[in-house]
Amino acid sequence: MDSAPVTITRSFLPPREEFERQVSRIFTSGQLTNRGPLNVELTLRLKDWLGLDFICTVSNGTLALMLALRQAGLSGKKVITTPFSYVATVSALLWEGCTPIFADIEPGSLCLSPEALEVALRAHPDVAGVVPVHVYGNACDVEAIADLCGQYGLCCVYDAAHAFGSRYHGRSLLDYGDFAACSFHATKLFHTAEGGCIVSHSPDAEHTSELLHAFGHLGDEHLTPGINAKLSELHAAMGLAVLPHMKAIMDGRNNVCRLYESCLPQKGLARPVLREGLEYNHAYFPVLLPSEEYLLRVKNGLEAERIYPRRYFYPYLPELPYLAGESRRCSCPVAESAVRRVLCLPLHVSLEEHTVRRIATIITRELSA
Ligand SMILES: *Cc1c(COP(=O)(O)O)cnc(C)c1O
Repeated sequence: MDSAPVTITRSFLPPREEFERQVSRIFTSGQLTNRGPLNVELTLRLKDWLGLDFICTVSNGTLALMLALRQAGLSGKKVITTPFSYVATVSALLWEGCTPIFADIEPGSLCLSPEALEVALRAHPDVAGVVPVHVYGNACDVEAIADLCGQYGLCCVYDAAHAFGSRYHGRSLLDYGDFAACSFHATKLFHTAEGGCIVSHSPDAEHTSELLHAFGHLGDEHLTPGINAKLSELHAAMGLAVLPHMKAIMDGRNNVCRLYESCLPQKGLARPVLREGLEYNHAYFPVLLPSEEYLLRVKNGLEAERIYPRRYFYPYLPELPYLAGESRRCSCPVAESAVRRVLCLPLHVSLEEHTVRRIATIITRELSA
């Protein structure tokens, strides 16, 4: 085996001259940050590309989520969220002083279950908000969640880190909820190396995001305790160079996914169910093995051939050692089972056909061993 290692993902790098052309604009403007011309242009292009009216770019997705929580008035409050996510969902909640209460997921979509949400709301009348996650770019049951939020008077902040490019009933998935926080990290579908954005629904809300992410002052007028979460012009340059390639990136990944589907075994592998009405962004290719034992067998089999899938999401968030009290006391058997059995397979636009076939062959071998 002398082939190169196969990693879970590979960040898309735009043609060097396109990136350099954007960077050279910084040498013209002389402005490196503080909402310079590249950031202004990236914001406009993102609004256009996503079909959204109000977004504020920030330095990463975790800060996007923290600022959205703060803006939604959820800091320091009890919040219902999903146990099936990346640790950053919980970190953002804890940094905002929230108490996360975990409610279980739907077995098909792997997103927060509205039924489990309702049970949790009845058990915790002091809950102030909901933080669901559009897992792998699939859509939460946004209608049922919105209904419950209306009924219980709750604010809904989506962790939409995976949702860039997914559309639901003809609208960007980022458009749902009171706020959505997206990530532009290098490993995400669209990236600025590090970055993210807060999506809101009014000029005032967008203005507040801008205020919060830049120290909370306008000139000499200090209006609120802000933080520094600005996206630099260098990061905006990467975003401007990557964005024109998004359609090709998503089409290419779709082709890799189709190929996986055609050559992976049907027996012993389950896939998350995409919600009806969703145009999927093909951000990830997760598979669910029959048990953790099978997962480890498949993972070890692949790694022996220098192919590196990722247990994503892992671990089971309620078991994080720094959580306490009500956050730990939950029963989410669907999520717990998914965490033990889910593996994301390598996926990027330049993954070659023979590699996909090799991965499928190894998985087939390990499943029938
Ligand atoms: C990546 C990710 C984040 C954090 O985004 P960063 O830009 O890396 O800070 C938050 N939530 C989920 C579900 C993620 O996958």
